Amino acid sequence: MTHSLTDTVALVTGASSGIGAATARALAAEGAAVALVARRGERLRALAAEIRADGGTAAVVTADIADRTQAHDAVGRVVDELGRLDTVVNNAGLALVGPVEAAPEDEWDRMLAVNVGGLLHVTRAALPHLVTAAADSPRRVADLVTISSTAGRVARAGQAVYSLTKSGVNAFSESLRQELQPKRVRVGIVGPGTVDTELSSHLRDGVREAVAGQIGGMELLRPEDVADAVRYMVTRERRVAVNEMLVRAGAQT
Ligand code: NDP
Repeated sequence: MTHSLTDTVALVTGASSGIGAATARALAAEGAAVALVARRGERLRALAAEIRADGGTAAVVTADIADRTQAHDAVGRVVDELGRLDTVVNNAGLALVGPVEAAPEDEWDRMLAVNVGGLLHVTRAALPHLVTAAADSPRRVADLVTISSTAGRVARAGQAVYSLTKSGVNAFSESLRQELQPKRVRVGIVGPGTVDTELSSHLRDGVREAVAGQIGGMELLRPEDVADAVRYMVTRERRVAVNEMLVRAGAQT
């Protein structure tokens, strides 16, 4: 039997679209009160209304997690409003891919700031609350899940800096997993293949078309497919720790 997430609180970064929005819906359906974190407040408010209409509990926390102060404040607001924190899903990210030669370096700065910096800020702020939840809650376990990527496992031409961020967060997660294992804060990674989201809409002209050409005609993963992996991970009983799930599209090599 699996635990439902009733009476728990989950924070999802990047909940305004794609995988994050689907994950927030999935965790709310398991009974978690969900805190929706991203910059686009309108999107978050619409999702919160949808979750509430389905009988769930949702809080909207607009923040740019690349900013350390905003990230720490966001976690603080979640705990103030919802009372605790049992589950964190580090999902917010950018994939500004393209060849290294002639890449605009501000794209690298933005990816590093969100994919790595944002994850570190949110994780650092959340950890004391996760440790408390794992010690005191009826479930006696808490979860920190990072949405990495197949690019964190296999580096390919044209994705060097994106792969750097995702392989970096994989290394961080494994180290943190070992640190937190005695406290029963489970640390896991979900590595999706190509998912049909807004991710590629941020690509610059030329690169966007090249990426579209590479995946053209392929049946992509849906955000719900990745959310389902997160849901599986965080609803296991305390004796089980699913540390990593790689979820590729069936048509993907
Ligand atoms: P989307 O572009 O749909 O979602 C990205 C989310 O990140 C948005 O909600 C966005 O919210 C949020 N975000 C970006 N920057 C910030 C910031 N500075 N502060 C707070 N939130 C921010 O893409 P996906 O759903 O596809 O991406 C989610 C994760 O999945 C990323 O980490 C990505 O690397 C990973 N992934 C995606 C794959 C895919 O093929 N789509 C494959 C493998 C991994 P807002 O703009 O409102 O701030």
